[in-house]
Amino acid sequence: MLGWLSDSESSSWLASGVAHLAVVVLLSLLVITQQGKGPDWTLEGTATSELPQELDIELNPMPSVGDELDSESMAPKAMGLPDLELGTPSVDITQPMLTPTATASVDAFATEMLDIGNPLASAGGGLEGRNLDNRRSLALAGGGSESSEAAVEAGLKWLAAHQLEDGSWTFHLDAEHCPQCAGKCRNPGRIDSSTGATGLALLCFLGGGYTQHEGPYQEVVSKGLYFLINKMLLTSEGGDLRDSQEISLPFARQASVRLRGDMYSHAIASLALCENYAMTRDSNIAGPAQKAIDFIVNAQNELGGWRYEPRQPGDLSVTGWQLMALKSGVLGRLDIPRHVWYRAAEFLDSVQAEKGATYGYQQPSSTRPSMTAVGLYSRMMIGWPEEHPPLLKGAVLLAKEHPKDSNMYFNYYTSQVLHHVGGAGWRRWNPRMRNYLVQTQAEEGHEDGSWYFDEPWSDRGGRLYTTTLAILTLEVYYRYMPMYQSEFVNQAP
Ligand SMILES: [Zn+2]
Repeated sequence: MLGWLSDSESSSWLASGVAHLAVVVLLSLLVITQQGKGPDWTLEGTATSELPQELDIELNPMPSVGDELDSESMAPKAMGLPDLELGTPSVDITQPMLTPTATASVDAFATEMLDIGNPLASAGGGLEGRNLDNRRSLALAGGGSESSEAAVEAGLKWLAAHQLEDGSWTFHLDAEHCPQCAGKCRNPGRIDSSTGATGLALLCFLGGGYTQHEGPYQEVVSKGLYFLINKMLLTSEGGDLRDSQEISLPFARQASVRLRGDMYSHAIASLALCENYAMTRDSNIAGPAQKAIDFIVNAQNELGGWRYEPRQPGDLSVTGWQLMALKSGVLGRLDIPRHVWYRAAEFLDSVQAEKGATYGYQQPSSTRPSMTAVGLYSRMMIGWPEEHPPLLKGAVLLAKEHPKDSNMYFNYYTSQVLHHVGGAGWRRWNPRMRNYLVQTQAEEGHEDGSWYFDEPWSDRGGRLYTTTLAILTLEVYYRYMPMYQSEFVNQAP
């Protein structure tokens, strides 16, 4: 699975512990210092005059002081669905985002420092559980049930029935946007991003082991991948999957690009391409997956995070999706400069509290369980070892939470974190989460197999959004192999 980390490397890496982390922090500071010397990069005409409100809403928050949010600020961006009312940005795609010489020197330095251990990931976390022959047994052994597996299949069936002719999915379910449904399902979304919707749907099929080469959904997956690849806008900074529209080049250099999505959409679509490539090594996917990764690399802010537009100062929610895509790029052995990980670690440092046990959206916080779940999951993806005290402390805090009936974003991330850590916290959380989803799946009419939860932001992503997060949560038993549970680690083929 992960040839870049041998058993011996794993042992030394685990042993390096806290001392290694201190070096990472030091190196991150050096990286930032060097990056800061590069030229300013500007995005012309972006819709940043009204920065979107913070999305992460804690409906049952830990005790907090003065952290009230109004209903409007709670609405839009929970998992990243772009705010279409922000306008139609015009992007100058001819201007480079990043100075190649600066990244090259940092990368060389970072590579040299990496001799002390591999900071990128544990040896677990691979995709080999997505095997149609082994999936059921992994699910049953890992805390799933026959009912949860049936729910996944019913959910995928609903998704397949709502795929559009061109291979895409839409958050809208009305006759104009989705003739297959034509409003027969309630609770449509109202976001236009086709790449975000398509990426989410594809992730559900891939998570269940279904690809363009395996299983009954080969045509569904193939058409979805084809749509994404055709949607990719090739730029000097990589392949842009933010769902660009109406490109015109009337006078050479200045391109007018209408965007319907943002870096959320790009990351989700990129994650689908990278996961697919990691699973299949399909040569048709390799190039687009690498270009999607390149765009993420070049869109990173100099302080290490990502936000709605390239190189905006980051927020943890958008950053988490980029890191998931990058981690899948690692699994596919795509080319990712080392400095990206160090800078990401620096960003995570900037929003952590309690020495990294808890996280905030753009500032440190100890009162945001959703952000803590994203932050800890991000830390796992860039290589925190299981025994690192803040990771364990944070996981214990999350394990004290209950699955929320109105926050699938929190439920999804917390399921990932607790599954990887395992132990009593996971055993307590899992049956509650699993049974809740099994019991809340629609069983009648066109909605059969889907989910909808009355969340503050679900009017934006709608039934497609809530259904995909529910499926991905129920696929937790095999979608990624646990990073830390010893029986799964170091099973590299
Ligand atoms: Zn429908």
